[in-house]
Amino acid sequence: TPVLEMRDISRRFGNTQALAGVSLRLYPGEVHALLGENGAGKSTLIKIMTGVYQPDSGQILLDGRPVRIGSTLEAQRLGIAAIYQEPLMYPDLNVAENIFIAHAGRGPLVDWGKLYREAEAILAQLDVHLDVRQPARGLSVAAQQTVEIAKALSLQVRVLIMDEPTAALSAHEVEQLFTIVRRLRDQGVAILFISHRLEEVFTIADRITIFRDGRLISSAPRTDVTVAQ
Ligand code: ADP
Ligand code: ADP
Repeated sequence: TPVLEMRDISRRFGNTQALAGVSLRLYPGEVHALLGENGAGKSTLIKIMTGVYQPDSGQILLDGRPVRIGSTLEAQRLGIAAIYQEPLMYPDLNVAENIFIAHAGRGPLVDWGKLYREAEAILAQLDVHLDVRQPARGLSVAAQQTVEIAKALSLQVRVLIMDEPTAALSAHEVEQLFTIVRRLRDQGVAILFISHRLEEVFTIADRITIFRDGRLISSAPRTDVTVAQ
């Protein structure tokens, strides 16, 4: 069964029908790419998945059960996280603190030694080598994204939304990010990958879905999609 299913989702802003009856299933261990021109409705769909917007109609199912995602915090608790092209980190906090910021409020007694070891373990799992005591300020965009991914993993992420994650990366950094994406996929994370770079989509995606004018116009396994040379 899909980990996350969007069923017949619609959302309107004034006279703009941003989404018109969109249905989409995200499976564990699958990289699902979303393609579409500006204004096609991709951001709106992501915002509904992360609790920023509510749909006008339609259903969201997690593990086959209907859920309401009322806020980004609720999305996080359900294991739905998003990574953007420009991460927003706390620049004065160090890497470990940024990873565990979402756990703040669990209690006043923080075992820093344990927190650092856990942060190191998560980054090692991603094969990322960062000093967890260094401040986020000064990290490259690529490094900040890996910190965001580590944060998602610390929250037991099941659906990772990546919105144009490669837009600010060098070719080498894209390679490194894709290595991490494949590793997450192999661990069973469902990945929604938004990009308008066809080459990248064909490199990383297992399934390709195309949006136009708030509608899903095509969805197929990558191996069924061919592009004229
Ligand atoms: P995409 O991410 O594919 O570029 P969006 O989801 O951002 O598309 O936008 C889909 C349509 O909905 C666009 O016409 C956009 O202008 C409109 N839209 C999105 N968010 C809002 C909003 N908060 N208020 C008004 N219109 C919006
Ligand atoms: P993107 O590259 O993600 O499509 P945009 O620059 O189109 O970003 O839009 C930035 C944000 O503003 C999006 O999250 C979108 O939902 C929102 N937005 C888009 N169109 C409108 C609009 N007409 N009115 C208000 N907000 C909008």
